[in-house]
Formats: sequence, C-alpha cells, structure tokens
Amino acid sequence: MTKIRKIHPWRRIVEIGQGVILLGLPFLKIKGESALRFDVPSLELHLFGLTLWMEEFFIVLVALIFLALLIIFITLLFGRIWCGWLCPQTVIADFTSFVDKAKGKGLPGKLIAWTATLLISIIVSADLIWYFVSPYEFIPRLIEGRLGNIIWGFWISLTVIVSLNFILLRQRFCATVCPYAKLQGSLFDSKTLTVAFDPRRREECIECMACVKTCPVGIDIRKGLNIACIHCAECVDRCATVMSPRGKNSLIGYFFGLPGEGGRIVRQNVIMIGALTAAFLVFFIYLLHIRMPIDMTVLPNYVFQPRISAGGSVVNSYIISVRNRGRENAGLKVRGDGIPGDIKIVPDKVLHVGAGEMQKFPVYISVNNLKGDKSTRDINIIIETVEGKKYVLTREAHFIVPEVK
Ligand code: SF4
Ligand code: SF4
Repeated sequence: MTKIRKIHPWRRIVEIGQGVILLGLPFLKIKGESALRFDVPSLELHLFGLTLWMEEFFIVLVALIFLALLIIFITLLFGRIWCGWLCPQTVIADFTSFVDKAKGKGLPGKLIAWTATLLISIIVSADLIWYFVSPYEFIPRLIEGRLGNIIWGFWISLTVIVSLNFILLRQRFCATVCPYAKLQGSLFDSKTLTVAFDPRRREECIECMACVKTCPVGIDIRKGLNIACIHCAECVDRCATVMSPRGKNSLIGYFFGLPGEGGRIVRQNVIMIGALTAAFLVFFIYLLHIRMPIDMTVLPNYVFQPRISAGGSVVNSYIISVRNRGRENAGLKVRGDGIPGDIKIVPDKVLHVGAGEMQKFPVYISVNNLKGDKSTRDINIIIETVEGKKYVLTREAHFIVPEVK
C-alpha cells in the first residue's frame, strides 16, 4: 500500500481562501474606502488605499495590461492552474457539488439542491454588486427598504444568471462559454504544466474508469490533453486511491510538458513575457509614484475682457479649476511668472479645496511695468500647496495686451 498524498485538500484550502478574500474585500476598508471598488456615481476606482479618478484611467489601463500579461505568463508556465484552483466558476461549482449528487435523488432532493444553489447565488450576486456599491451603503439601504429599482434589477438579473449557470451549466461553462478557456489553448507550449496520464505506465492501468467518473467535465484524460480539462486534479487523486492498494502511485499527475520528456520551466518565451510583465509592473508603480493628488485647468475668464487699468497695469482674468483627488483638504496659493513685469495676483490669498472636491476660482493677473510691445504673451500660472506635502502645478496661458485707444 502506497501512502496517498491527495491534492484535493490543498485545492479546498485555496478555494476557501479565495472565497473569503472575494467576499471580504468589499468589507475591508483602507483609508476609509473599500479596498477594491469602482464607485459608479463619482467614477472613482478605489484600489487598496488609492483613489483613481476617471481622467487617470491611463494608470488603470497600464494596470490592466500588466494583469493581462501576468495571466499570459502564468498560463504559459502553469497552464490552467487558475481554472482548477482559483476561478470563481470552479470554486462555486465545487461548493455546490450537491447539485450533481442530487441528480439521482428524485424531485425533492433536486429541489433542496436548487434552493441551496439559489441562496448561494443571491449572496454571490450581492457580492458582485458590492464591488460597485459599498456593502456599508447596500445593506442599510436594503434593511430600510430603499435599495432602489436599478440595484434591485441588477441583483435579481445576476441571481437568475448565476443560479441557472450553477444548476444547468456548471463545469460545462468552462468548455462552452468561457473565453479564457478558449484562449488558453493558444497560450500553452510543449513545456507548460498540465494534468496528464503517464503513457509510459499504460500497461498498469486497470481500466477501472474511476478517473473518468470523477472528472467534473466528463473527459477521459488517458486519451491525451483535452481543451475541456480544467486541471482540477480530481482524477489524479482518484487514480492514486485505486493504485495505492497495489503499491503504486497515481498514473495521472501534474507534468511540465509531456510525461517523460523532461519539462523546462525557464524558456525563451517565458523569459520574454516575464520581462514584459515586470516592465509594465514597474511602469505602473512609477505612474502611481508621480501622480499628483491635485489637478488644475486654466481657461480665460470670458466675462472679463483684458484691459489696461487706470494705473497703467495690464489686467487679464482666468478661471482656475482645481480638483483635489486626495484624502485631505488642500490650501493653495496662486502665482504667475514668465512675463517681464511686476506680476500681481488678485485675490492674493490661500484658496481652499476640500478632499475629493473640485472648485473654480476667478483670478485676476495684473502686470505693471510690462516690457516689450507684443500683443500676446505666454504666462505661467502656478499653484502650490501651502500646507502638508508640497505640490506645484504649472499651466501656460495666453496673456493679452489690449491696444491703447
Ligand atoms: S481530466 Fe482530471 S484534471 Fe482534467 S478536469 Fe477531469 S478530473 Fe480535472
Ligand atoms: S483511475 Fe487510474 S487505473 Fe483507473 S482507469 Fe483511470 S488511469 Fe486507469
């Protein structure tokens, strides 16, 4: 009798961990906001303590490219490890395996299994919505009966789709609907980690069919790699149980490349994709490092025509829009430079913009003793924070010198 080292308990631990993380993330608050949530009304993405605004979605795009490359990299190395161990479709299908077991138990057994699946689907669908509407807002609104038609509509629709998926499709979803499963075939190479039957030991197979019966997608792995295989390794454990009393190990296992051909983890394509993935990660971190919580736009104030004051100064007016994306209120001073003359700003006081707010300020710039006779100059309008961490932003604007009549 050979000692059996089952993979299933490890998979179950990983699946429980994944479930706890996905259910718990919307409840986890970092700096007062959900750890991961896209807030639809304000178009803000809360990302582990960071808040990214719509106009910063270039950073999100870089993060998405990094994630796509990471998926390609992991798939190239470890095949369908995501599908078998971490994909919510597989995890929930495993936790609702009573639906498969209820098939031979008549209508009452099926009704109980379907009802349990429906209850799980209600929670899963609510969890999906919590990545857009905070559970700290969702749950009180639900209790007080003011969830709103739109959220109810989404919740009911998602529940119907999720429950039908886990009652009718289940693991067939992976082979029929999932685009990632179809894409993976093209991401594998001859050395990728796969679950495979060891053909060198074919004579040892007793044709018990236990591996086929246990397979959630109903394939016979002994016939070779199959696109429907989600690499859950259930067949590995089943064959191990069959072979153990005969003093042998499982005929099926995880192999880098074909069994017996010697897998090589470090390969040219793995190094290239790995380097590209790392480059995008570094770029993403760099963008986060240089991003400013304060943003500013400057437009001419069209209700104030440039003019020459009684004292001889040239006066232009601008509307300065300041957005404070940070979590703290900002105090800002405006100044100007780039023009040969004495520059004065009105109002010459600290402007306050609350955390998460956008404010517009009319600003008058008066230049005395202006040198030269150009009718249009470029002026630098600068704002800088006067308290906390120092941020300085500069925008160029036209400064008009009207003709003296
Ligand atoms: S062949 Fe094995 S690893 Fe693949 S899906 Fe079936 S049981 Fe899972
Ligand atoms: S479980 Fe093992 S011994 Fe039984 S049919 Fe599958 S590969 Fe052969």
